[in-house]
Amino acid sequence: MALNLIFLGPPGAGKGTVAQAVMEKYKLTQVSTGDLIRAEIASGSKLGKELAEIVNKGHLVNDDQIAQMLEADLKTKAAKASFSGFILDGFPRTLPQAPMLESILGKINQKLTAVIYIESSKESVVKRLSSRWTCSVCKKVYNTVSLPSKKLGVCDDDGAKLIQRDDDKPETIAKRYDTFLEKTSPLIEYYNKKGLLHRYDGNVPPAESVSAAEKIIAKIAKN
Ligand SMILES: [Zn+2]
Repeated sequence: MALNLIFLGPPGAGKGTVAQAVMEKYKLTQVSTGDLIRAEIASGSKLGKELAEIVNKGHLVNDDQIAQMLEADLKTKAAKASFSGFILDGFPRTLPQAPMLESILGKINQKLTAVIYIESSKESVVKRLSSRWTCSVCKKVYNTVSLPSKKLGVCDDDGAKLIQRDDDKPETIAKRYDTFLEKTSPLIEYYNKKGLLHRYDGNVPPAESVSAAEKIIAKIAKN
């Protein structure tokens, strides 16, 4: 049985780190809708040209277009002899996309094994993400926790002032967190009802978060 997983969590929950570790441990294939969109645009196909236009206008690619690419990609990947499962990134993000995914998986004889929700508080996400500071001149990025400058608030290379980009400001991060919860709560509820949801406390250092996720997956993989 393939191990087909989705990770959910607010920006800053450490989804990327956890997914990467799990992917390597279980030899899973990563499927990212963002990558699919970029590859399709780069291919210059008819769909790619349509997508380029949408993306360039700053609009969202519609669900049917994503589903079309996702189906083709998953079909190819699942047909490989070495296929042992996937981690899907970027889809579903909204409730209507969940049954779409089910129908795609049904067509290629696959099933979602589990949805893992990395629960993280707003405080811990803000703390984690707002530690990024950028040099106002050379744009070098520092992190007050993991990569501090030698002198507080000043760039090591050119002595210029470090500033916080809008994306890294606590209020922006808090807003993104609220948007995530609002959009994703119905999805979490949906998978909970289906018995697919597994959640754990993500307010811990990355290594602990990885091992918490791996514990859940080990249990699932045994069944
Ligand atoms: Zn600098």
